Amino acid sequence: MYQKMKGTYDLLPEQTRKYQQLEKVIRNVSKIFNYNEIRTPIFEATNLFHRGVGETTDIVSKETYTFTDRGKRSNTLRPEGTAGVVRSYIENKLYAAKIPVQKLYYVGPMFRYERPQKGRYRQFLQFGAEAFGSSSPMLDAEVISYAVSILRALKIKDVTVHVNSIGDDESKQKYREALVSYLDGKVDTLCSDCHNRFKTNPLRILDCKIDKDSDVLKNAPKPVQYLTESAKEHFDNVIKYLEAMEIDYIVDESLVRGLDYYTHTVFEVNAHLDSLGAQNTICGGGRYDNLVESLGGPKTPGVGFAFGMERLMFALESINFLGEPEYLHLYMMVLGEEQKEEGMKLLNRCRLGGLISDIDFLDKGMKPQFKLAANLKARFIAIYGEEEQKQGVINLKDQESGEQITIKKEKLYNKIITELMNPSSNCTDCAEESCDSCE
Ligand code: ATP
Ligand code: MG
Repeated sequence: MYQKMKGTYDLLPEQTRKYQQLEKVIRNVSKIFNYNEIRTPIFEATNLFHRGVGETTDIVSKETYTFTDRGKRSNTLRPEGTAGVVRSYIENKLYAAKIPVQKLYYVGPMFRYERPQKGRYRQFLQFGAEAFGSSSPMLDAEVISYAVSILRALKIKDVTVHVNSIGDDESKQKYREALVSYLDGKVDTLCSDCHNRFKTNPLRILDCKIDKDSDVLKNAPKPVQYLTESAKEHFDNVIKYLEAMEIDYIVDESLVRGLDYYTHTVFEVNAHLDSLGAQNTICGGGRYDNLVESLGGPKTPGVGFAFGMERLMFALESINFLGEPEYLHLYMMVLGEEQKEEGMKLLNRCRLGGLISDIDFLDKGMKPQFKLAANLKARFIAIYGEEEQKQGVINLKDQESGEQITIKKEKLYNKIITELMNPSSNCTDCAEESCDSCE
C-alpha cells in the first residue's frame, strides 16, 4: 500500500471545509485592508531563491526541494512566498502601475525539507502579504495591524506581537561588526551551524533555535544600539502608529529574522497554546527595502508577513471557532409598525458600513425575535420600540458579554464597530453627549 510522503498530509472533506472557512476570513479581512490576491507558480528557477532568500539561510542551504527538469534547468519548489511575488512584481512591471503602492496577498503551499513534527511539515500552507512602493512607517504599522486583524477576526486572543528594528544598511553593517567582535572567541561554545553562520551571516546567530537561550546570545549587543538616527526615527514612528491603532506589542530587542532580505522593522506573532508546543510562531514578517532591487527591479521598498496556516488551524481548533460558521454582527429588533421605517434606516446604515445584519419580516413578538437572533448567532441585538423612539435612543445588547446599554440611535454603528475592535471598551453612559468611546 502506498503511503503519503513524510511531512505531508491529506485534507479530508471535513478538514478541507475548515480550511475553506479560514481562507474566507482571510479574504474578507484582506478586502477591508485593500490587499488583492496574487497567484504565482509553485516552482521557480532555483537561483531566484538563492538570490532572494539568501544562499546561506537554512531555508535555501538545507531545506529546498530542487530538481533538474528535462531541459536541464534547475527548478525549486517554493519554500516561501516573497521571492516569487517579488519576481512577478518586477516581471509584470507592477512598479509602473497606476496605483503606486501595490498591496498583494497570497495563499498556497510551500515546501521545505525539514524534520517533521507537530506544526512543522514538508508541504505546508502559508497566507502572506506584501506591500510595495512606500518606505513610510505607516505601511509597516498597517501590515502589522492587518496581521493582528486576521487574528481578531478569528477570535484568537492569546497572542503576543513582538517587534524590533534591525535598521537600514548602515545600521546593519555597524551592528554586524559589533556582533562579530563580541562573538570572536565565544563562537566555540555555540552549535556547529552557528560556527558557519559566524563566517557567512553572523546576524542569524541570534535566530538560532539551539543557542537562543545561552548566556552568550543573551548578553550579545542588540541591533537597537546601532540604529542610525533615521532608522531610529522610522522605528519610533512605527510604534507611534501601532499605538494609534491600539495594537498591543512587545519590543523584543533580540528579535532578528532568519532571512537575508529584512531591513528596519521585523516582527513575529506568537500564540500561547499548549497544543502548539515549541512551534508557537504563527506569523513572521518585516520590511525588505533592498529585495526588489537585488532581484533586478528598480529600487523599491517593501514590507510583508507570512502566516503558517496549519498553526493557525491548531489555534482555531483549540478555541472551537470553526464549529460555528455563520453569524451576524447585528440583529435589528423593531417592536412595532411605527418603528419599522427608522429600523430599516438604521439597519441599512450598518449594512453599508459592512456589518452583517438582519431583521424580522414576520411581525414576531419580542420573545420569538430573541430566539431568532440566537439561532442566527447574532453578536449584537439592537432593540427599538415605542419608548426608544420617543427618546431618540436604541437599546444595544451584547450577546457575548450579556450587557445591555442605551445609546443615541445615531451612534449604533460606531458603537458596534468600537466594540468589535476593542472588546474592553465598556461605556455605560452613551446617552451622554460627552461620552468619548462612542463618539
Ligand atoms: P520557524 O522558526 O518555526 O522555523 P520560520 O522562521 O522558518 O519559522 P518563516 O519562514 O518566517 O518561518 O515562515 C512564516 C510562518 O510559516 C512561520 O511563522 C510558521 O508559522 C510557518 N512555517 C514555517 N515553516 C513551516 C513548516 N515547515 N511547517 C508548517 N509551518 C511552517
Ligand atoms: Mg524554519
